[in-house]
Amino acid sequence: MLSLYGAGIGKGIAIGRAFIVNRPEFDIPQYSLREEEVDAEVDRFQAAIDATRDQLRQIESDIPHDAPPESKSFIDAYLLMLQDPLIAEQPVETIREQHCNAEWALSRHSESLVNAFDQMQDEYLREKKNDVRQITNRVQHNLLKIPQHQLEAGMEQLENRVVISHELSPADTVQFKNQKILAFVTDLGGPISHTAILARSLNIPAVLGLHGATRYVQHNELVIVDGKRGTIVVDPDDGVLAKYRERRQFVFKRKQQLGELKDSLPLTRDGQKIILLANVELPEDLEAAQRSNAQGVGLYRTEYLFMNRAEPPSEQEQFRAYSKVVSRMGAPVTIRTLDLGADKQVDGGRGEAPTNPALGLRAVRLCLREPALFRPQLRAVLRASALGPTQIMIPMVSSLNELDQVLDMIAETKEELRHDGEKFDDKVPIGGMVEVPAAAVAADLFAHKLDFLSIGTNDLIQYTLAIDRIDDAVNYLYDPLHPSVLRLIKLTIDAGASAGIPVTMCGEMAGDARYTKLLLGLGLRIFSMDSVSLLEVKKKVLEADLRILPDKINEIMQLADSNTIRDRVVALEDL
Ligand code: PEP
Ligand code: MG
Repeated sequence: MLSLYGAGIGKGIAIGRAFIVNRPEFDIPQYSLREEEVDAEVDRFQAAIDATRDQLRQIESDIPHDAPPESKSFIDAYLLMLQDPLIAEQPVETIREQHCNAEWALSRHSESLVNAFDQMQDEYLREKKNDVRQITNRVQHNLLKIPQHQLEAGMEQLENRVVISHELSPADTVQFKNQKILAFVTDLGGPISHTAILARSLNIPAVLGLHGATRYVQHNELVIVDGKRGTIVVDPDDGVLAKYRERRQFVFKRKQQLGELKDSLPLTRDGQKIILLANVELPEDLEAAQRSNAQGVGLYRTEYLFMNRAEPPSEQEQFRAYSKVVSRMGAPVTIRTLDLGADKQVDGGRGEAPTNPALGLRAVRLCLREPALFRPQLRAVLRASALGPTQIMIPMVSSLNELDQVLDMIAETKEELRHDGEKFDDKVPIGGMVEVPAAAVAADLFAHKLDFLSIGTNDLIQYTLAIDRIDDAVNYLYDPLHPSVLRLIKLTIDAGASAGIPVTMCGEMAGDARYTKLLLGLGLRIFSMDSVSLLEVKKKVLEADLRILPDKINEIMQLADSNTIRDRVVALEDL
């Protein structure tokens, strides 16, 4: 049994068998064996060699007859190499003598072979080291029971499994929406990354940034994932398993109790109306939004429609997706224009990365640079607005000039649609996201140009505190209660109030029930979050009293130290 720690996401507990994907090459586990385990380890090693030989013969027989003869000869060379004593026999001796695991024994001998080839004078022979790597890599995959092509091996294999991966991009993770996976664990990544946000919306526990997860967890091993504590337990004993099963039951019951709040109106104790909206990534998420009785969609992250495909979706395909959400929701839907860039790359981040992606050509900057990408989206969103209440929201606004350019483009697109005889809502509200400190500080200067503001705390905190939200090395600095963050939130809420426009919050902070009373006291009245968190936040709204909260919050706003602020925010629960 082994316990490991990382950043926990979601409040649930999952218990299931591990499925390893995206294990980094050559990350070889090393462990010792007891005397009585040695024979079985040798058998395991020999089975992996046999499986590799069978796979190579299968590849060979699949080669078409008219293929060039070299295609077959390179397989023959691999098959020959697989018989080399350094690969097929010496690891067995090492397992027997040193009582070490097969992967480790194989890697030691294959590295000697690689070094031997590397020192040869003859260039042709020197290149043979790559063949050794290829072939031993295949044997290692068979030992670790990892499909050779990992995620591409077929999503259906992940069903009811705990997915363990070195790294998962948002493009990888969004594919889990159609799969019933139990939980996921990654070596890299932090709690506010888009991958983490997707885990929350999937309503499954996840632990991110758990360095060594892919090294210490074996394929098929039983794993407990505790999203609340950020812990995984590998190969748990019966006592621990029983304890976690009990906790899983407790979490389940708590969720059921919260379900009873579904039909109550989100009113504070003093009768103030609060609006609770849902964040969605795909049209399929609407069901969860409706189940939690969300009063609309406060953030539709349209960029997921653009991922995992070679070409961007056409205007018509976008129109179909947006109109599905708008017409089915039966309540206002806020469609955010494309926020690609940074960690949300179309190809899952496998392309050439810019030097500083979070500060680069992202969101509205990318859209203004590439009108061929932006215009079809504006047309599709505007056309969808004819089918039900719709709002357009611009991400990452950082200057007035940028905002003016977008507003001009929307006006031009409307003109075009009028000319084409297409229907749209001419009064569609246009809002800006406040997620760059520049926008929060100057919110009073441009609020009058907009119909609403929405605070994106995920990025606002990232950019204010200068910490990359996907870099788990600096995640400990990610602090929604930092006084500078609280001030920027307050500035934005006040700017909205002065301009007479609504202010929403759609970052993760809005869905974190620990902060609900604080935000209410700061003047926030509209919260948008993943549907899973909505009833928990509603519970806090029902307990809050706006006759006493603002004074308490004014006191908190005078404090400089985050820890003291945290204590005072916790104390708000007793009011
Ligand atoms: C935010 O930055 O808070 C936000 C809601 O946008 P995203 O998480 O998609 O960047
Ligand atoms: Mg953002």
